[in-house]
Amino acid sequence: MERRDGFGKLRRKAIWVGVSVGLVATIGQGCGGNGDDVGGGETSSERSALGQDTAPVFKDSRTPPPVDVRWELGARETLTVRGTMPFRVKNTGTSARTIRLALVSSGAGGLVAQTDLGSVHLEPGQSTTLRPGLDKLALRSANVSTQLVVQAEYETDDGHTVRVSAEPRFYHSSPDGRATMVYDVETMVRDYGGGLVPGQPPVAGYDVGAAGTKLEAPATQGYLQGPTTIALGASADHAEVATDSAQTVIPAAPPGAGQRVCTTWRVSFEDAGFGEDYGTAQGLQDLPAAYTYATVKDSNQAVKWQGYLDGSGCTPYLALGVGSFTLEQKSQLSRNGANVNVYTRLFGNQFIWVFNTAFTVTNGSGYTTVQVVPPVQVCTTNVNGVVAQMLRTIDNGFQAGTYTVFSNTGCPGMNAWDSCAVGWSAYIGQLYPDGSSDVNSKIIIAHEIGHTVQSVAMGMLMTNYGGDWDAPQFCNCSHIDDPQGINNLHCLQSKEYVSAAELEGFAQFMAAKTWNNPAETNCGWAYYKPFREHQGEFGSVIVAPPMARICGTPPGASGLSWMEHNCALNMTNHGVEWDWQQFLWDVTTQGTTKSTMADLYNIYKTSAACGGSCNGKDVHWADLESSARAYYGQADPRYANWVWRANNAGIDH
Ligand SMILES: [Zn+2]
Repeated sequence: MERRDGFGKLRRKAIWVGVSVGLVATIGQGCGGNGDDVGGGETSSERSALGQDTAPVFKDSRTPPPVDVRWELGARETLTVRGTMPFRVKNTGTSARTIRLALVSSGAGGLVAQTDLGSVHLEPGQSTTLRPGLDKLALRSANVSTQLVVQAEYETDDGHTVRVSAEPRFYHSSPDGRATMVYDVETMVRDYGGGLVPGQPPVAGYDVGAAGTKLEAPATQGYLQGPTTIALGASADHAEVATDSAQTVIPAAPPGAGQRVCTTWRVSFEDAGFGEDYGTAQGLQDLPAAYTYATVKDSNQAVKWQGYLDGSGCTPYLALGVGSFTLEQKSQLSRNGANVNVYTRLFGNQFIWVFNTAFTVTNGSGYTTVQVVPPVQVCTTNVNGVVAQMLRTIDNGFQAGTYTVFSNTGCPGMNAWDSCAVGWSAYIGQLYPDGSSDVNSKIIIAHEIGHTVQSVAMGMLMTNYGGDWDAPQFCNCSHIDDPQGINNLHCLQSKEYVSAAELEGFAQFMAAKTWNNPAETNCGWAYYKPFREHQGEFGSVIVAPPMARICGTPPGASGLSWMEHNCALNMTNHGVEWDWQQFLWDVTTQGTTKSTMADLYNIYKTSAACGGSCNGKDVHWADLESSARAYYGQADPRYANWVWRANNAGIDH
């Protein structure tokens, strides 16, 4: 069952305009910044975020999907009527693929229009450049920047549809229609008012496609949504932390009337729809901006309300009345004292991003929900959407304090595209040389933040990814091509020294928990590196990511027990992260004798191995078993469940 607070309305609101076509063509990838940052070299702000620099770094990178699409446009281009928007699509995988291409325009008021560009068939390693003309732009405006996504869609080997997109671009036309400016998000923020082009009179609606049809924002019940602009807030050098005290400005709505303002983060994930429960759509989708810091201002810029939105991404009912307002939402989120600041690199520095959306209340009587849908999908909105979902999770495991996510930023000291976690900070890397950024993976983002959650709550276990040296091929990562030496340090199926399996298993569990309903028994998710599967009696086949995997044990079934089934020699004090993911999911979400996250942390911390903090400790199963017995007592059914679930998942070695 999916939580869909305020969502039915939202879906109906988006208008999808199918603008024909038979052309073959185009590209894509999607983060936010320019690609001029080389290396993961840390800035002073990043260094300060590291805090005590003895904290271990957890190296993770995904393998991007085997289709890459990216613009061959500069950061800022002025195109005449005969201009084209070239992009390249490449098959980076090992099997031939048919790739369907489309341009998707997202405009003010929630309008979305898609132009199909046909399909291309590419052999492994083959690429092609397509050059759609401006007549393929389905929405046109002179005063508002419209987002342009080039989308490449293919079928995975296991029959899932994946949509990969290029780095976002934006565009607007000159008032006479003779020129079209196409630019990246940095140019939009610097030169075009963050999306409201300076000096241009407001224009109602959009011109649609070559036919010039006028398209108005859809009529809504008692309100209209205007344009959205992006501004930059505090930089990481001068961190501004919103606090709960700001929530005191809450004018109560009069009895029987009031307007509640709800908003969303627009996201796009390549690994959506692989058996999980939440955020399952491929391509653009809108997630509730739960627990996001927001401000409602009237037309005089007076603050009508300020604070953190609720778990559905809504303000309380306010006495707004008829009039024009602005909703400001920031890449800062907080629930129960757990603050998460999301900084995204632009102009070479890290910033909190601010999204302002104009709206007008036209009917002030009765109760109204003003559903705002900011039509912008960039690096930071992807991360914000994941953080919002993580905070919504029941028993989410976060502790009070301030976490930081640096998006579009490589791990310090590693490649610009490498993601990792260090202490309270998670890093989500930039564009890969030949593949999309980790910011397009909702699993990787939740995984890295999951590492910070564990680090803060109990300390990070000993990191030693050297445990699979004696394992057979189904328990190592030799099938993962990795010239950089990071991606195959560990993988879902690799046999590791047990502490490495535990800490990676915890991060995988956090990703699984973020996107699955704990009240259900069918935990599913997408894994993000190549996986070696059995084929026939003796063979094997390498499956390209993303691929559907289970992340919990169905009721009445035996656990996966990958290590026991595939590399059973020398299991003592060894483990496989997939097995640990399943154990942690099973033991904290299933049945009436489950453990809470607090129980889990306490069992770890009170073990003889950890003795308080687990930082750098090597925690064996025997430690956890005896610690759980001491924590619950021998007769407590939660202790019995702990032992039984461990045995079922095959981690009790
Ligand atoms: Zn990890």
